[in-house]
Amino acid sequence: MDKLKKIIRDIDDFPKTGIVFKDITTLLADATSFQRVIDLLGHRYLDQRIDLVVGIEARGFLTGAALAYKLNTGVVLVRKPGKLPGKTFKETYTLEYGTDTLEVHQDAIKPGQRILITDDILATGGTIKAVVNLIRKTGGDIVECAFLAELAHLKGREKLTGIPIFSLLSL
Ligand code: AMP
Repeated sequence: MDKLKKIIRDIDDFPKTGIVFKDITTLLADATSFQRVIDLLGHRYLDQRIDLVVGIEARGFLTGAALAYKLNTGVVLVRKPGKLPGKTFKETYTLEYGTDTLEVHQDAIKPGQRILITDDILATGGTIKAVVNLIRKTGGDIVECAFLAELAHLKGREKLTGIPIFSLLSL
């Protein structure tokens, strides 16, 4: 686990002053590390009868696609506004400055399907909370939200009571 933590690179003051950005591109580019995180996350869900994996734009597409392959499921995309061509459900949420919206195709998930949601990093928890609300609109049954890593000091989990969260690493 220490090797995995070390391969995630810190970039100071990105995207703005005072933020330490956890850059996972270094982990993704290392075959052993990428395979290991997907194997570790995948094993957790192998016997959970997952029907679909949901990946959040953009880095969640990478964990999402790899996990879906591992779990032998399809993958569903949660995207920024205006990117999905079909009819969508939308969820708008508050950011530090202003709001943002995420969308999913209305017919991508059938009521009762068992859903695993994934993204790279859990930070403040605002994004995952919006995605959980979005997936609930489809009637999907959320089994868990899986992250490569969590920024524990931001206490995102505290905002997410009642939502099952798992992260492989605590940074
Ligand atoms: P949040 O809504 O605060 O949990 O963060 C949502 C998204 O922003 C996640 O998809 C993360 O990939 C990204 N993110 C937020 N903070 C950081 C950070 N310090 N380093 C890397 N990614 C971050």
